[in-house]
Amino acid sequence: LRQNAASQFLFFEKPMTREIQEKIATEQELRRALEREEFVLYYQPQIQLDTGMVTGMEALIRWNHPEKGLISPYAFISVAEQTGMIIPINEWVIRMACQQTKQLLKDFPNLSVSVNLSPYEFENRRFVHKLVKLLEETGIPPHHLDLEITERMTMDTEKAIAILKRLKSIGVTISMDDFGTGYSSLSYLTALPIDRLKIDRSFVRNIHGKKEAILPAIIRLGHNIGVKVLAEGVETEEEVAYLKDKHCDEAQGYYFAPPLSYEELIVFLCEHHYK
Ligand code: C2E
Ligand code: CA
Ligand code: CA
Ligand code: CA
Repeated sequence: LRQNAASQFLFFEKPMTREIQEKIATEQELRRALEREEFVLYYQPQIQLDTGMVTGMEALIRWNHPEKGLISPYAFISVAEQTGMIIPINEWVIRMACQQTKQLLKDFPNLSVSVNLSPYEFENRRFVHKLVKLLEETGIPPHHLDLEITERMTMDTEKAIAILKRLKSIGVTISMDDFGTGYSSLSYLTALPIDRLKIDRSFVRNIHGKKEAILPAIIRLGHNIGVKVLAEGVETEEEVAYLKDKHCDEAQGYYFAPPLSYEELIVFLCEHHYK
């Protein structure tokens, strides 16, 4: 089940029937994992660059497998999406993230939690109703929940605007994840009711080259359309200094903290929140 890039490649070279059999087996395993409560959320802190305060955290799922240990989302999210299991899994993610954040709000009243959405639920009309029910059930004020979407989901811009308006009317915020790696037309960006751009770590890491030209331009673009900008995958002090200099609002990455267990997150918040 542990699928790295290489084994995934082999996966597609196998005959169709075998591929389908494996998917069905994985679907059943995922359903059992959900029933047995084997999924767990890790949280990666998001830091406001000018104050050093923690503004929130991104919820990242792991599968705590009884034999294989902690399994990365890269190994099962895509199968979950292909089999539809992503719907109940992400419902669990949102419920758990809201429950745990509700607890944290008692001591850290300004935090918000970000969850990753999948294309399937983003386009599902019933998702808005489900979200309202989850917010009521967990009692978390909607503005403490942030939904991360990707450019991929907004390619049909008219449709995306309609969906995003419905989501925003509930009171949650919207972040555009992995910004810069998708295919969104920049001219439509102003029309999308989003609150934050998350710059993909490849631009922070300078994988595309010409970082000097691209990174400050994305930050300015975000500010020009009136949204906050968060840099992902920040690993070094130099990167932090550079981002501060370019007036990037927030950052997330190993430099500050890796994804943390709920218990580790509480320790981190106690040590850093009012710094
Ligand atoms: P993502 O949303 O882009 O999440 C960021 C990923 O970058 C996380 O990997 C995180 O651990 C990693 N990361 C954070 N800081 C650094 C850094 O400084 N350097 C480097 N090299 N990496 C860093 P993770 O947790 O393995 O998640 C992978 C992907 O799985 C996520 O990418 C997201 O697309 C998906 N995913 C995770 N949780 C969920 C979920 O609950 N629902 C859905 N639908 N997708 C999820
Ligand atoms: Ca994300
Ligand atoms: Ca991302
Ligand atoms: Ca990603």
